[in-house]
Amino acid sequence: MSLHVLSHPLGAHLLTQLRDRATPPATFRSLSYQLSLLLALEATRDLATVGQPVVTPMEPMTGRVLAQPLVVVPILRAGLGMLQPFQDLFSNLAVGFVGLERDHVTAVARSYYGKLPPVAGARVLVIDPMLATGGSAVQAVDMVKAAGGTDIGYVCVVAAPEGVACLGAAHPEVPIHTAALDRALNERKYILPGLGDFGDRLCGT
Ligand code: URA
Repeated sequence: MSLHVLSHPLGAHLLTQLRDRATPPATFRSLSYQLSLLLALEATRDLATVGQPVVTPMEPMTGRVLAQPLVVVPILRAGLGMLQPFQDLFSNLAVGFVGLERDHVTAVARSYYGKLPPVAGARVLVIDPMLATGGSAVQAVDMVKAAGGTDIGYVCVVAAPEGVACLGAAHPEVPIHTAALDRALNERKYILPGLGDFGDRLCGT
């Protein structure tokens, strides 16, 4: 299992503002965008490239372009708060959706929607800001694998040790990229210190 914790001073700065309970939804959304952009760069750092001839105004040369399709799969609804920077960075990105709803009493995730583009041969990044119990993450990666995905990564904003252990046990080859590894879950399966309910803060609900 490989866990990558973002190590960038701007990442820490943005995350502290995101955690602040006084941050209003509009600011929360733009902070999510900025932090997810840093995470998107980290999670795609190892993408393969191939040589491609190009003619500059000065002379021909061989440049490099991405060799592999990229698919991003936000887990609804909070994952939508991380999607835009991936679309802005990667013009040929394909987007799939997985709808998983957490029961507020049992904290167990239930699938209510799934639509994936072709994933065979692509790098597939599942995105969801809060890796809490890991139940949704495992289910989402299960769905990507069932659709033929083999090169899969998971990107979140905050991870709990419990979620990292759960996802790592079920899918040890899936790297996890996060901006922070927090302390623990509380009895309601929220991350401590965390930032509260990401979806609610994103949507102002
Ligand atoms: N989902 C959230 O939005 N926040 C948590 O702390 C855990 C799960």
